[in-house]
Order: sequence, then C-alpha cells, then structure tokens
Amino acid sequence: MTKVLFIAAWGRSGTTVLDNILNSHESVFSVGELTYIWSRGLRQRRPCGCGAPFPECPLWQQILRVAYDDDPPSAAEVSALQRRSLRIRHTPTILRTRNNPDVERYRGLIGRLYRAVADVTGATLIVDSSKSPADAALLSGVDGVEPYLLHVVRDPRAVAFSWSRPTSHHDASTPGLTHRHGPVDSSVSWLGWNLLIEGTARTYPRRHRRLRYEDFLAEPRNTVEELLRFVGLPDSVGSAPASDPFAGPFADQRTVSLRPNHTVSGNPSRFRTGEVSLRRDDRWLDQQDRRQRLISTLVSLPLLPRYRYPLWPGPR
Ligand SMILES: [Zn+2]
Repeated sequence: MTKVLFIAAWGRSGTTVLDNILNSHESVFSVGELTYIWSRGLRQRRPCGCGAPFPECPLWQQILRVAYDDDPPSAAEVSALQRRSLRIRHTPTILRTRNNPDVERYRGLIGRLYRAVADVTGATLIVDSSKSPADAALLSGVDGVEPYLLHVVRDPRAVAFSWSRPTSHHDASTPGLTHRHGPVDSSVSWLGWNLLIEGTARTYPRRHRRLRYEDFLAEPRNTVEELLRFVGLPDSVGSAPASDPFAGPFADQRTVSLRPNHTVSGNPSRFRTGEVSLRRDDRWLDQQDRRQRLISTLVSLPLLPRYRYPLWPGPR
C-alpha cells in the first residue's frame, strides 16, 4: 500500500510551506498540487518545483513512464474529464456514487501515478497538497493507496486579506498574471470549501485531522513531527541516528532547511530552498480595512466558533 497524505484547504492557508517542510524529510516526497499535472504541468508547461518546464523534468518523465508504460493518457482528455466531473461542486456526487465512469477512470489514473511516485522515489509517504475537496473525496477510493486527510484552516479574515493583495500568480512562467478574490468571494469559498472538506473527512475513518495555520506556526517543528507520527512514520527520519528519530530539516522549533522539490504546482513560495525562518503572517491584524474584515466576519460566521476564531480579532 502506498501512503498518501492529502492536504485539503481553501487557498492562502499556508499549505505550500507545510508541503515543502514535509518534503524535506528523508522518506517523504511531496507532489505539490497534483491535480494540476494535466493542465498546468503537461499542457501549459509551467515549471516543476525544480525549475524545469514540467514536461522536461527528468524525475517526472521517469514517474510517468513507470505509471503508464508507453501508453500515457492524453493530458487534454484528462483535463476535460476533470472539468466535466471533478469540480468542487461535484464533491457530494463523488462521495455518494461509486460507479461514475469519469470518477473511476480518474481514480485508476491517479492510483497508477501515486504508485509510480513511490516506486521511483522510494518515499514511504507521498504528500499531495491539491487542496480541493473533490480530489480529497476521490482519494479515499483509489486502489493500492492508504489515504490520510489533513484539513488545514486559517482565520478567514487573514485569508481574505491575503487574497486582496497583489501577488504573482502560481508559477514564475506567468509573471504578468495575478490572482485575487474579493472578501465576499474569498469568505464564501472559505465557508463552502471547509464544509465540503468536513464532509469528505468521514470517508477517512481514523485517518483525518484538522490543523489550524495559527497552531502550526506557533510550533512548526512539534506540529510536523506529530503529523508524521499520525501517518505512522516513526521512521520518517531516514538516515538520522536512532537517538533523534525526527532529525530532519529542522534546526530548531522554527528554523527549517528546505530541500529542492519536484512539486507540480503551488504558491510561488514552493521555489524557496535553504534555510527559512517560519513566522506567522499577521500583517492583516494591523493593515486590513474594517469593511473587508466586517464582510469576511459576517460571511464566515457559521464556522468561526467551530475553529476557535474570535468574532473580532484585536490588534497585534
Ligand atoms: Zn522536477
């Protein structure tokens, strides 16, 4: 069985950095947002985490060869299938039905891909930070995969603030593009995605947990090590001496040395390697305008107490 940890979250919740930290452990391989391999990776040739145009990354070439022999699926055909049957709004259908031909075809394709990743990289754990609840719902029915679900949440006001700010789009190859959501849009999506992710969690009995971005960045090292234990990786350590079973990328609680990765897609921070000091981004507490915060608070109100977020956060 191939262990896969799926990270589900609405965007701007800190999943890329978590993904990169996990990838920096010896027996872990992060595929990034694997759901975009067909569109952004193979069709649009956006860069792999290693910097090469995705179709030219030697590691992924090998993985795709092992996965599909000489008969790879057409990326255009799979992208069309995803648009037709694997959008966010299809999540409840994916959870309910077991015989949708599109869903079963995609499960077959993605299962071969995960198994090939494990074979080629030798990783004990594959991390997929595709985020989408539809993909999370799919994963629990993939043959040969032992699936785990990590649901990451972040204060919706911080998320709305992040989406309102100009930032370069996902991949360096498209610097002109920016990707933004207004506070209503961001918070409606925050609410909807989190509800859908909670709905998928029941298909991961005893293999799902929720993590708040804020708790993760309060104690990054402890959080990551606990997470690795949760997925059954006391040996997540690779070459580390037995006395320190988690000697991985952490120099101390919040300093981490990120190794290069081969993530399919994700936030631009995925290209960062080397020593990084992990800090919570709290600029929104001082800089967010009241209107944006009010809108975001009202829209996300139904889930604020559940995730222990205050009604009206104070200044830093
Ligand atoms: Zn690569």
